[in-house]
Amino acid sequence: VNEFELIARYFDRAPLDASVRLAVGDDAAIVAPTIGCEVVATVDMLVEGRHFLPDVDPEALGHKTLAVNLSDLAAMGARPRWALLAGALPRNDPAWIDPFARGLFALAAAHHVSVIGGDTTRGPLNLCVTALGEVPAGTALRRDGARAGDDIYVSGSVGEAALAIAATERRTHLDAATLAHCRGRLDRPLPRVALGLALRGIATSAIDVSDGLVGDLAHVLERSRTGARIDLARVPTHPALAQRRAGSERTLALACTLAGGDDYELCFTAPAAARVALAEVARELALPLTPIGTVCEGGGLVVLDEHGVPLATLPRAFDHFAATA
Ligand SMILES: [Mg+2]
Repeated sequence: VNEFELIARYFDRAPLDASVRLAVGDDAAIVAPTIGCEVVATVDMLVEGRHFLPDVDPEALGHKTLAVNLSDLAAMGARPRWALLAGALPRNDPAWIDPFARGLFALAAAHHVSVIGGDTTRGPLNLCVTALGEVPAGTALRRDGARAGDDIYVSGSVGEAALAIAATERRTHLDAATLAHCRGRLDRPLPRVALGLALRGIATSAIDVSDGLVGDLAHVLERSRTGARIDLARVPTHPALAQRRAGSERTLALACTLAGGDDYELCFTAPAAARVALAEVARELALPLTPIGTVCEGGGLVVLDEHGVPLATLPRAFDHFAATA
């Protein structure tokens, strides 16, 4: 048994349903899409030192490698169905590969995703997942549907993952409990798949917050040819960020809250008429959906501070580990 057959052994598992006609073991996999559905496809690459820290727990990394792709499917309102994994690994180390595979397959099982193929090679650690999902034809959530007057929402809270990176890089200090919470957000993000499905037919646009709230929202505004005003005070974040009101601590908090990456919440727009329906979705999913502003005809993206004064400059979209990469 050569080392790549050994690696393949960890990733060759039975498909979860009959939609997979042919899985690992041939030149390519064959899947049968659901009649009346469109296939939604996405790919994401994670590179050591750029997207994750070298000391990351392999089980958490297995989880996150798939989670970031499922988050993109969630942002499209798609139901995840199938995934393929390609990876470069520096060494054939079962003590690393086993927990990595466990983390990946646990999240796959939780979302009923079959892993239908993969490839491995030796090289600097680099992981790439292709995820495929389905939506009933014509119902996908896109970035280009926001309309002037729509409310802008964000799910859950933003900024904690970036705060964890700041603390790890000793740019700030957190108490042990807050650090553990924020590291959890960074290392084990929960893709908002159920929310994406619930938003079909309600939201006019959606995006997942992977690079930072203002940067990702700007993509929606650009594609929708609209502007927006959001209220800083309404952006849901952790008390450890909300409490930082002055000086460099405030600058750090603004950067984490508005431009911190890796939150994997959904930012979406919906007409005012959808408020009751969205309150019901939030209740059913036990997930806060917070209105943070309004889509405008134009004027770019304006963030109003606690006094209603526009911020002169917006923190830039988060550049993963820019200082160390
Ligand atoms: Mg995305």
